Amino acid sequence: VRALRPVPDTRETLYLFGTLVEVEIHGTPEAEARAAIADVGAHLQTIHRDWHAWRPGLLEDLNAAIAAGRPFTVDDALARVLRQGRDLSCASGGLFDPAIGALVEAWGFHADTPPEGDPPPAATIAALVARHPRMTDLRIDGNVVRSTNPAVQLDLGAYAKGAALDLAAADLRAAGVSDAVLNAGGGVQVIGQHGARPWRVAIRDPFQWGVVAALSLRPGEALHTSGNYERFLEAGGVRFSHILDPRKGQPVQGIVSVSVLDTNGARADAAATALGVAGAQDWPAVAAAMGVGAVLVISDDGTMRATPAMRARLEPVSGGFPGPI
Ligand code: ADP
Ligand code: MG
Ligand code: MG
Repeated sequence: VRALRPVPDTRETLYLFGTLVEVEIHGTPEAEARAAIADVGAHLQTIHRDWHAWRPGLLEDLNAAIAAGRPFTVDDALARVLRQGRDLSCASGGLFDPAIGALVEAWGFHADTPPEGDPPPAATIAALVARHPRMTDLRIDGNVVRSTNPAVQLDLGAYAKGAALDLAAADLRAAGVSDAVLNAGGGVQVIGQHGARPWRVAIRDPFQWGVVAALSLRPGEALHTSGNYERFLEAGGVRFSHILDPRKGQPVQGIVSVSVLDTNGARADAAATALGVAGAQDWPAVAAAMGVGAVLVISDDGTMRATPAMRARLEPVSGGFPGPI
C-alpha cells in the first residue's frame, strides 16, 4: 500500500518493525503533532521489542516457557493481542495461526533478511505439522499464559502490524489528534478524513512496479495487503511465499496479493494472511467467517476478484489499471 499523498501537514517517517512508518497529521498545530508522533514512535518501539518472536524480549521469553511446559506472565498489551489472535485464528478455521512459529523458522522467514538456499527437507516439515501447534492450545488466564502443547511457538508477524497500528491510532486520538494517517508498508490506518479531501491510498501491483487501484479511506478504516512479492524464498527458479499453510506446512500458492479493508487493523491484517491460505475457491467463505466484507484478491495468473463492498470503493488509477475487476 502506498499513500497517494495530498499536501502534507505535519509529516514524519519513523523506522519501526523493520520498515518505514509514515505518519501524517492534519489539523493539529505542528508542535503538538510532533509531540504526539514522538510518543507513538516510542510506544511502537516498545511493542516491537515485546512482540518480537525472534529477538530477546517478552515474547521470546514466553516461547521459551511454552517449550518448557511452564506458565508465563505477560503484560496487558501482550495478553490482549494474544486473545485477539486466538479469536481471529478460530474465526479463520486455523488458516491464520500465529502458533506456527516453528514452521516459520524452519522456512527461514523469521529472519530480517530473506532466506537463501533450499527449502527445508519434507521430513522436517512433516514432523512440525504432526505436532499440531494451534492458537487453541493457549490458555490465557488474566495475564498468565500457558500452552497445552509445547510445540506452540508464537510468531505474531501476520497481524502484529495491524494490531500495532490500531494502538497507534488510539494513542493519537488520546493525544487529541482527530485527523491522521499511519502508513507502514503493507498496512495503513486512518483517523478522520483529511479535512474535505479523503486520505487516498493505492494497492500495489504484485507483478510490476506500479499500482492496480486506489481508494479513499473513511474515518477509522485500515487497509492491509499481504503479498508474496516482498518477502519470499527463491530456490530452483521457484518463488516460495512467506505465508504458510498451517495444514501442510507449505508456502501458499496461487494467490499473490490479498487486500482487506476493515475498521479493525488487526482483523484486516490477519484476514489478508488467512485468505491467501484459503485459496481462490475458499477465500470468500473465510472472509465471511472472519467478518471482513471488503476484499481484493489477485491470483498468479493476473485475475483480480473483489467483493461487492470492495468493488464499490476501488477507483481506477490512470496508466496502471489492468482492466475491470
Ligand atoms: P506481511 O509480511 O506482508 O505483512 P503477512 O501479514 O501475511 O505479510 O505476515 C506474514 C508473516 O506471518 C510471515 O512472515 C510469518 O512470520 C507469519 N505467518 C506465515 N504464515 C502464517 C499463517 N498461516 N498464520 C499466521 N502467521 C503466519
Ligand atoms: Mg502483515
Ligand atoms: Mg497479515
